[in-house]
Amino acid sequence: MSREVAEELKKWILRGEFLLTERVSPIGKGEFKPMKSPVILAKDIMTTPVITARKDITLEKASKILVEYDINYLPIVDENGILIGIVTSWDIAKAVALGKKDINEIMTKKVITAYEDEPIEIIAKKMEKYDISGIPIIDKNRRIVGIVTSEDLSRLIGREK
Ligand code: SAM
Repeated sequence: MSREVAEELKKWILRGEFLLTERVSPIGKGEFKPMKSPVILAKDIMTTPVITARKDITLEKASKILVEYDINYLPIVDENGILIGIVTSWDIAKAVALGKKDINEIMTKKVITAYEDEPIEIIAKKMEKYDISGIPIIDKNRRIVGIVTSEDLSRLIGREK
C-alpha cells in the first residue's frame, strides 16, 4: 500500500501537480504518537453473553424475552448450545401479522454468522448484503460467543467521533 502511495505521489511530482517546498515547521520531539491499529475485530465490539432460547419456546415467551432484555435478536440453540436459528422482533411482528404461533415456522434457519476474529468491515458488509442488522458470532463448533448488531456498530462510530 505504501509503495502504491509513493508511486502515485511520484507521478504527481513529475507532472508538476504536487509541489515540494522547504519544511514549514520542524516536528518536535515526543510529538509522534503510535498509530492506532485500524483493524477492529468482532470480538472488540460484540455483546456478550448472548441471551438465547431453545426451539420449544413459545412465541409469547420469546416476545417477552425481547422486551425484558431490550433486544431485537434471539438466537435459537439446541441442547448442546449449537446455533440452529434466529428469531427477531421483525419475525415476531410478521408472525402476529400472519397469525402464526410456532417458533419453528417463523425462525430463520440459515443464519448468517461470523467469527470473533473477523474485521467489523466484513460484518457490516454481510449486514448490508443480507439486509440484516444482527450477526451472531460463533466458534468453530457453531456455539455462540457473542453478537454484533447495528447498534454496536453505531456505538463504535459515535465513540470514535
Ligand atoms: N432489515 C430489517 C433488519 O435489519 O432487521 C428486517 C428485514 S430482514 C430480511 C428480516 C429477516 O432477517 C428476519 O426473518 C430475520 O430472522 C432474518 N435475520 C436477521 N438476522 C439474521 C441473520 N444473522 N442470519 C439470517 N437471517 C437473519
